[in-house]
Amino acid sequence: QVVVVGSYNHDHVWTTDVLPVPGATRLATYAGGPGGKGFNQAVAAARAGAPTVFVAALGADAAAANARVLATAEGIDLRDEVIADVPSGAAGIFVDADGRNVIAIAPGANACLSLGFVAAQQVPLAGAAVVLAQLESPPDVVFAALAAARDGGALTLLNPAPANAPTRRELIDVADVLTPNETEFAALLGRHAQRAVSPDDLPRLRGPTLHGLCRELAPRSTVVVTLGAAGCFVSHPEARRRGDAEACYAVDADKVATVDTTGAGDAFSGALAARLAADPAAPFAAAVRFAGRFAALSTTRRGAALAMPRADEVRGSS
Ligand code: ADP
Repeated sequence: QVVVVGSYNHDHVWTTDVLPVPGATRLATYAGGPGGKGFNQAVAAARAGAPTVFVAALGADAAAANARVLATAEGIDLRDEVIADVPSGAAGIFVDADGRNVIAIAPGANACLSLGFVAAQQVPLAGAAVVLAQLESPPDVVFAALAAARDGGALTLLNPAPANAPTRRELIDVADVLTPNETEFAALLGRHAQRAVSPDDLPRLRGPTLHGLCRELAPRSTVVVTLGAAGCFVSHPEARRRGDAEACYAVDADKVATVDTTGAGDAFSGALAARLAADPAAPFAAAVRFAGRFAALSTTRRGAALAMPRADEVRGSS
């Protein structure tokens, strides 16, 4: 099974012809729905075929009730800590006709996920094949969850997103696998390896150079840098190749009719976790290829959590 520890947000999405500027009022169409990196990744893992537990903090409000209904509909075992006097996480998203967006996130209850609650999830954390976390929850709680998971023998995955979230060295070391996108990878390199690299330059770097940067950042972790439509790059520590013949390699993305890339990274991490849990002995490259195809499909639909595909839609999944 896969345990996801992370955020739940209610996304409020307003689509306008032109983004409002300070003082302006614009007419919009509105859509509300579930989001948050944690929930998106839990839905991706569940739809990719893994029995999935989702550990999150919610308020005592309508958004929380909605989260429970949605989790049940997806077959996700939701373990929620109720934070009585704080609202559930929420995001306000404005999108214009060209797809550009402006986003504000109120972490709300997500920021209150407690060490005590996560410690009480010892059984699923230690019994899981894979535990997956992101950085929309308190870093010390994320660390505790991954450390407990590792002690119990689970494979630990950290999607170090968003890029501006604080990270400590221990958070990188406790992750068996890291899945940053270009921006997150550049931010981590700046913070933890004193390397100034522009995210835009990453897809143009040669394999050995990128591999070297991954090794500097996370000497003991497998690093999968996702590169949007350019696919991803995988770098293993010398001693732990996880069934792969090569220490580093690139995987191209499928060419698809992309309409909305929101949640592509979440699709990738959730699907990777599900595949690694399903067959820990299979080559890591096979799980990465599956995750890339799954994420590419997710970009052909609008939305995040509810736009996740299902395993049987992914070419070559069986
Ligand atoms: P994030 O959403 O975190 O920025 P990326 O944009 O790197 O993450 O996307 C994650 C993965 O999703 C990529 O590695 C790729 O496999 C897939 N993907 C993203 N955008 C596209 C696209 N336009 N076409 C095909 N696959 C895509």
